[in-house]
Amino acid sequence: MRRLAFPGKAKAPGLKHGATFKSVYHPIAVLRFRCSAAAFSAASVAASADTNPMPDPKARSLPTSKPNPLLTFSTHELREFRRALLDWFQREQRDLDWRRTRDPYRIWLSEIMLQQTRVAAVIPYYRRFVARFPTVESLARARVESVLRNWSGLGYYSRARNLHRAAKQIVREHGGEFPRHLPEALALPGIGEYTASAVLSIAYGEPLAVLDGNVARVLVRLGGTRGEVREPRLWKRLTEAAGSLLAAEAPGDWNQAMMELGATVCTPRSPACESCPVEKWCRARKLGIANSLPTARRKPKSVRVALAATVLLDPAGRTLLLRDQDGGALFSRLWQFPAIAAGRNPRRRLSEHLEHSLGIPTAKIEPLARARHTVTFREVHLLPFLVRVEQLPALPGAQMPLLAELDRLPVSNATRKIAVSALRALEHGDRSRKTPPLHKPQGRGTRKNASRIALVDRSAQA
Ligand code: SF4
Repeated sequence: MRRLAFPGKAKAPGLKHGATFKSVYHPIAVLRFRCSAAAFSAASVAASADTNPMPDPKARSLPTSKPNPLLTFSTHELREFRRALLDWFQREQRDLDWRRTRDPYRIWLSEIMLQQTRVAAVIPYYRRFVARFPTVESLARARVESVLRNWSGLGYYSRARNLHRAAKQIVREHGGEFPRHLPEALALPGIGEYTASAVLSIAYGEPLAVLDGNVARVLVRLGGTRGEVREPRLWKRLTEAAGSLLAAEAPGDWNQAMMELGATVCTPRSPACESCPVEKWCRARKLGIANSLPTARRKPKSVRVALAATVLLDPAGRTLLLRDQDGGALFSRLWQFPAIAAGRNPRRRLSEHLEHSLGIPTAKIEPLARARHTVTFREVHLLPFLVRVEQLPALPGAQMPLLAELDRLPVSNATRKIAVSALRALEHGDRSRKTPPLHKPQGRGTRKNASRIALVDRSAQA
């Protein structure tokens, strides 16, 4: 059977280390492989495994830094492979809102929301966002505050800010239509290769392959390739491999099928190989190393940060929120409680900060339940304190919402956690004192709302 991996005149075993093949054109796949002695030893291990499905102990010590061919499909195999995956996708794909449309705006929105966030967590946010901003024009017209409020709880707020800026650019420069060509799509804020390829292939049928973490994991397992997938050289080879597999007649379905396989079957831990539609082409499965691929990423050490925050509360149940204060980045540059980096004596430091910086006398500071919050590699310890005041200070640019209705403003999950801590303490104190925890808010605020944040604590979702 003719294979695409090592075409050319040179005999594989005789190749010198580092020898390079020229590009080889094939009607379906164009693969460029940099071959090495190590590559051939890897290939021979794989070849021997074709006839021996038992794990080969030698395979576990494949070199990690030398390149080896990722995928070696004959034309026939490639056709079969594509058919098997596309058929499986038609049968097994999850019914998701953004799969019922070809509207590039909605596909783009879903792709942005799904970055760093699980599908189950995204669904309610997606529905709420689409109900509020059904078209790219409506999003472009909205105020950024409104966009952030509707994003509130999803985290990574730069995504929402970029989405809003890109919507304005699409309306201004493309007549409200998501651009159809890669260079224009890449010129939009917050859109990189992955998002552009996903939107263009799914919405417009452009033959562009996507490569995200899910697809990369599937590819390294199919090829039985070791190495950190985010390492630039391996990532480049994965990009080429993804492009060579792409079913050009159905690029949108193909990309979604690859991602779906990674998300539901070829999962990071314990891949379900026995129910995998492409099991018979998977080298990692044959070698018995699927569970150990991809090679674990070296995570940066997490940094511990402690923040002391103040929940000011007036007799009407209102609190004070500021912006761009200390720890602003940890609160996603959204509305936050006055906060400082906690030192050895956070209560005293906070008291001094309130008096000297904000002019708020603090007769009594009550500690509240602590909370933990993780932002990428930072582990934030939140030390909240309650300070009751007769009147909130009138600070320029401050907001004074009801504590129980904090969600009406764009706030981060860290701020929400602090509010939940205060509301729980107030409700607990209320039960023991048999007095209302908060004065009945005016207008739309009700006693029921006092625990609204506690009941819809979405911090665990994002
Ligand atoms: Fe992933 Fe297993 Fe399928 Fe290979 S056989 S692609 S490791 S699920």
